[in-house]
Amino acid sequence: MKTDIIVDYDKCGDPRECKKCLQICAPALFLLYSPDDESDDPDIWRVDVAFTDLCTRCGDCVETCPKEAITLV
Ligand code: SF4
Ligand code: SF4
Repeated sequence: MKTDIIVDYDKCGDPRECKKCLQICAPALFLLYSPDDESDDPDIWRVDVAFTDLCTRCGDCVETCPKEAITLV
């Protein structure tokens, strides 16, 4: 079953300061992304989620996110 992993970017804020979801996910589905990786503007940095068909629905990302920004659908 395909899993949609929704990140609430308003709650997440600047993911460069946290990265817990990137570190906890065993299949490494979370990516740190900015359209301009030279920019220091926190508003343009995002965690993107790729290859969601590899998600095991373990729930570790939801549990580890300190801002309750991640939802599995
Ligand atoms: S539920 Fe588990 S496998 Fe799926 S994105 Fe979260 S940490 Fe990764
Ligand atoms: S764990 Fe939550 S707050 Fe931290 S980078 Fe990931 S989505 Fe953002």
